[in-house]
Amino acid sequence: MADNRYDAIVVGARCAGSPTAMLLARRGYKVLVVDRASFPSDTVSTHLLHPPGVASLRRWGLLERLVATGCPPIDTYAFDFGPFSISGAPGTDDTSVAYGPRRTVLDKLLVDAAAEAGAEVREGFTVTEVVAADGRVSGVRGRGRRGQAVTAHARVVVGADGRHSAVARAVGPEQYHQRPQLLCGYQAFARGFRPSGWR
Ligand SMILES: Cc1cc2nc3c(=O)[nH]c(=O)nc-3n(C[C@H](O)[C@H](O)[C@H](O)COP(=O)(O)OP(=O)(O)OC[C@H]3O[C@@H](n4cnc5c(N)ncnc54)[C@H](O)[C@@H]3O)c2cc1C
Repeated sequence: MADNRYDAIVVGARCAGSPTAMLLARRGYKVLVVDRASFPSDTVSTHLLHPPGVASLRRWGLLERLVATGCPPIDTYAFDFGPFSISGAPGTDDTSVAYGPRRTVLDKLLVDAAAEAGAEVREGFTVTEVVAADGRVSGVRGRGRRGQAVTAHARVVVGADGRHSAVARAVGPEQYHQRPQLLCGYQAFARGFRPSGWR
């Protein structure tokens, strides 16, 4: 980061951050995207890339890369609630299938695409502070892999740093569409599982 001024800094480089950085870089903006993780990196997720997400990958020219990993398409969903189950096709008019790539696969693919588009990607970089000037966010402060302190500035800082977002906490945005938690789920991987109707 010799010149540490950017048009945009994106904090978090998974499915929100990397495509944001990629799309901005493709439009010619100077972008820095940072993540404390190093990719490929896993995270808690059930992996379903629903058809609108598949359509986004196609639009960005990345779907073929996902298909090339051998990840099979999913054309039927079934949710078994015990007393009853709901099943059907997830497809939309333009995209008939979903995919279930591991996050080690999907997020790495997205990080690489952001770098290819020209975004500067810093892995192993933890943002410790959001920098503000004249009442608006003007950059971030953080630590690189070897613990070195770095300050970078940008016209726009995007918080794509997940559920416990430090960026959101720092700027305290208005919250809306808040709902109380109604249920929770448990997930596990199963080898050789063949649900009814599986083709
Ligand atoms: C159990 C579970 C199952 C799910 N299943 C699905 C599913 O099947 N399909 C679906 O579409 N969605 C699913 N979701 C939701 C989906 O995982 C999230 O919506 C999605 O991961 C959010 O992506 P994101 O890029 O915004 O944030 P995240 O994936 O949380 O990524 C945030 C990134 O920011 C980085 N970061 C955080 N703080 C800092 C910091 N201070 N400095 C530097 N980097 C930082 C983290 O290292 C992380 O890599 C599931 C979620 C959970 C918990």
